[in-house]
Amino acid sequence: MEQRPTILIIDDTPINIRILSELLMDRCEVIFAASGREGLERAMTARPDLILLDIMMPGMDGYEVCRRLKAEPATQDIPVIFVTALGAEADEARGLQAGAIDYITKPISPAIVRMRVHNHLELKRHRDLLAEMATLDGLTGIANRRRFDELLQLEWHRARRTGHPLSLLMIDIDHFKRYNDRYGHLQGDDCLRAVAQALCRAMQRGGDLVARYGGEEFVCILAETDAAGAQAVAERLLAQVAALQIPHEDSPVAPQVTISIGYCTATSLSGHTWQQLVSCADRNLYQAKQAGRNRVAVCDLAHCNLLSCDETEQNP
Ligand code: GH3
Ligand code: MG
Ligand code: MG
Repeated sequence: MEQRPTILIIDDTPINIRILSELLMDRCEVIFAASGREGLERAMTARPDLILLDIMMPGMDGYEVCRRLKAEPATQDIPVIFVTALGAEADEARGLQAGAIDYITKPISPAIVRMRVHNHLELKRHRDLLAEMATLDGLTGIANRRRFDELLQLEWHRARRTGHPLSLLMIDIDHFKRYNDRYGHLQGDDCLRAVAQALCRAMQRGGDLVARYGGEEFVCILAETDAAGAQAVAERLLAQVAALQIPHEDSPVAPQVTISIGYCTATSLSGHTWQQLVSCADRNLYQAKQAGRNRVAVCDLAHCNLLSCDETEQNP
């Protein structure tokens, strides 16, 4: 069953809250707050789909509440509708300027309020869906390159703040061109989907992310994970893909589809960039390929710390 949308009503007059909730509660979860300050808190914690906001309230008025909601990344995408007794054109303009999506004057018409709320909830649902689709890979349904870039930068800054290690795995299907040549591109696509799902299954922590990097390459971000942890995950990934037992008769490596993995762990991030983490993992992937495929590149410090990557970059 589809989840019911949540609406937050912020109004200092209890009777107004009651009228609006009775109007909307058949289709929505209704929560409420009796002051601007409480409303901001509720918006942060409950993340409603829509906010109905009174303007005239003691303490913080509705304009200010709206401005603050729009200034805060966690709440800025929640549509706000003013429901107010202030009916002058200037009031409405000020409300819309504060970032509201719509403006309803009291006394309200029940049918119109219901319709407007319904329309805005529909728009919000479509926007959320689009935003979600923009971060997913169309073929495999897992996270895409865009999501990976966003999260890696986020985790990079977090690791720098907290001092925790950050690991990155670069994964590539072995001899995938031959797979396509032998079995055709459609079956190749099926194989990509199966491998993507197997990689996701091997993740055990909520914060871990597997994304399709491009073509037959995948990446995996492991926050707060040291080299030993990354090695363990990499071995689990090899095992998961092997367990799929997808026949690959033209592979010189094994009778079934296999992957190679290169990884890099950053323990001291200062003076480095997240791009270096990616190129280091990439380099190790290349080594795993060179060493015979179907394996994890050994992460000894001489080849796999960020420092050695930098040095090679500067003195090739
Ligand atoms: P290696 O073991 O060195 O990685 O060899 P490889 O053949 O896997 O690597 P190469 O980079 O030469 O070829 C990658 C192949 O992946 C070529 C391309 O046809 C295939 N490929 C990339 N994206 C897709 C896709 O979306 N669907 C399918 N079916 N194949 C794809
Ligand atoms: Mg490949
Ligand atoms: Mg490749």
